[in-house]
Amino acid sequence: MNDCIAAISTPPGEGGIAIIRISGENAPEVVDRIFEARSGKRIKELKTHSLNLGYIKDEKGYLVDEVLVSRMDGPRSYTGENVVEINCHGGGIATRRCLELVMMAGARLAEPGEFTKRAFLNGRLDMVQAEAVIDLIRARSEKALALSARNLEGALSKALKDVEDELIIINSRLEGSIDFPEEVGEPDWAEIEEHLRVVEARLKRLVAGSKRVRVYRDGVKVVIAGKPNVGKSSLLNVLTQKEKAIVTEIPGTTRDLIEDLIYIKGIPVRIMDTAGIRRTQDVIEKIGVERTREALMEAEIVVFMVDASTGISDDDLDIMQQIEGKRKLIVINKEDIENRVLNVDEVRTRFPGVAIVEISALEETGIEDMEEALEKLIIGQKEPEETGQEIMTNIRQEQAINAALNHVQDAIAGVGNRLPIDGIAVDTWGAVSWIEELTGKAIKADVMERIFADFCIGK
Ligand code: GDP
Repeated sequence: MNDCIAAISTPPGEGGIAIIRISGENAPEVVDRIFEARSGKRIKELKTHSLNLGYIKDEKGYLVDEVLVSRMDGPRSYTGENVVEINCHGGGIATRRCLELVMMAGARLAEPGEFTKRAFLNGRLDMVQAEAVIDLIRARSEKALALSARNLEGALSKALKDVEDELIIINSRLEGSIDFPEEVGEPDWAEIEEHLRVVEARLKRLVAGSKRVRVYRDGVKVVIAGKPNVGKSSLLNVLTQKEKAIVTEIPGTTRDLIEDLIYIKGIPVRIMDTAGIRRTQDVIEKIGVERTREALMEAEIVVFMVDASTGISDDDLDIMQQIEGKRKLIVINKEDIENRVLNVDEVRTRFPGVAIVEISALEETGIEDMEEALEKLIIGQKEPEETGQEIMTNIRQEQAINAALNHVQDAIAGVGNRLPIDGIAVDTWGAVSWIEELTGKAIKADVMERIFADFCIGK
């Protein structure tokens, strides 16, 4: 029998209410020791999944808080066990006192993620669903929220189940031939290969789709680079709609890096304006230039801004050299001015193969086009039939899927070379064991502990 655990499940600090969650076989008895329902009923007389007004009293019988208590009998509860939740008034002290009393009455403090761990151990969630809970809590964009909700609902679990089913068919064929070589004979290699190819395609699609949508959870780092006065701070201002970067007319005055979190088409973007990259004698500016070089190295994507009013200069060529090999977008700024000396064709000839957009940071034109171009650069070209069907995975999951994929590809090669059957079976079983590690059917204890240790207390 699991012991009774308790924790404050709401965030710390003052709030309208705070919730203490208690889970375990004897959770109702524990709470019964400190709770008096206004109806006069004992906890076990209350209906399951009902909300009941009453009072928490301390060991001397003094009133601590007026609360609402809900009782959710297992297995229809978050953890699958008997759960009682106390909705206290949200003052820090009142909540802490209630928790202390719950512990004196027989519960112990829950470890981080222990409620969700019990839900997993009791079969309420599989491991990828449990991981979706933490993603959902931490979601930084609506798209990330939607993708984690889909996984909580079972999108990834279902995709993995389909793969597992296919692998099990393959394994049963191979085993038949291994165990009863006389009766069964050689497996139908064409059929085995066909099933393996299906598995390979599904795993590959999962990895590719997930790579595209992972940015909705993890975000990307974008740096705006360009010579002084090209309009970097102005663009950052437009994007953040905040007067965070100081716009000036003196070249080289944005001496520090200014960073902000913005959302572009639902993607969390850490965007950084950089001090102008210029050969300079000014010491302070030199520091800024050095930092810019570092920021550029770290950037996943660079917005390289050029000036329609000045044309391409040596400074621009310098920058272009520094960002060689980076994923980038060229933004021609100041498209509003009358005496332009730079147009798209010239930029395209000079920097072939790079996406180009024209904007005016001043008049705020072309911004939507720029956001679309950035989205394309970040997410890559979408496969039309996959759009909206992508499933998000985390690093652990992606590594396990890749490991399964490697086994499947080795098995395909084995079939092609007509290797001994048991050698091929080692790979197909290897693939199954990675899928089972993913869903938690056969997960190593330390992997499981690591996953739940990342959770917050009370979840
Ligand atoms: P930074 O040094 O690259 O950060 O450039 P700033 O954003 O400080 O802008 C330098 C100057 O260019 C300021 O006077 C801005 O008002 C002006 N500027 C920025 N964007 C535009 C634009 O799209 N059109 C015009 N005409 N002027 C702009």
